[in-house]
Amino acid sequence: MADDSVLFLGTSDAIPGWDRSHACLVLRLAGQSIVLDCGEPAAKNMAFECVDFGGIEAIALSHLHADHVAGLLQVITAMWLVAKRDRDIPVYLPAEGIETFRRLLDTTYLFPELIKFNVDLRPLKAREPFAVGPVQVTPHRTTHLDSIRRLGGERRGIACEPFLLEVAANGKRLVYSGDLGSARDLEPTLDRPLDLLICECAHVTPESLFETLRDRPVKHLVITHINHLIWDDHGRLMELARRFGYAERCTIARDGLMVSL
Ligand SMILES: [Zn+2]
Repeated sequence: MADDSVLFLGTSDAIPGWDRSHACLVLRLAGQSIVLDCGEPAAKNMAFECVDFGGIEAIALSHLHADHVAGLLQVITAMWLVAKRDRDIPVYLPAEGIETFRRLLDTTYLFPELIKFNVDLRPLKAREPFAVGPVQVTPHRTTHLDSIRRLGGERRGIACEPFLLEVAANGKRLVYSGDLGSARDLEPTLDRPLDLLICECAHVTPESLFETLRDRPVKHLVITHINHLIWDDHGRLMELARRFGYAERCTIARDGLMVSL
């Protein structure tokens, strides 16, 4: 995989379809390979695209909806069986998932004594950057799970914390939206030039996204995670892109797309 590039392995929304896998992408930046989200079938798609399971430096899960995390255990299994990995893998995720995923790893027998590396589960914290080599990743809270928190999270003591991820290295900056509650969730990241914005369109309308991005310094917008009801309507999306001045800098993601930074 070329340096300073993003490989889209899964671009679907939460509805399974024949032509798109669930959310997963591999970012290659400043010599680091970082996996953002692990929707199914992440390991199968990584194998198909010849992603080196031993070379992945970190995984970050934007939030814990199944279409963003359900492929994680198989990716860890592939790190063991395919790459014979012998160094720990940091996995960043909302704090509410750490104990559950620790138990899931144990429940599926992925013991460090067996696989020979630790899955180092670390909490994402809003506006607290973490480093992957020279790459800085800053999580920002989104409002994606606000209604879910009110519906059932609060009474169960579950924080329901989703994040978007801002990534910077070598003078380049990109944002991965994860899932949003409103396009305005992006605003804390839009005040400075952005080389690449990877944004979902399952929980925000394309109209509200382009309205938010109007006159913003975004060099390249890649729309992914597009709602299945509008996925086929590329014409409408590109018409909106034209209307808001994004015609020359908007790409609609499909599985297998690679974008240079
Ligand atoms: Zn979600």
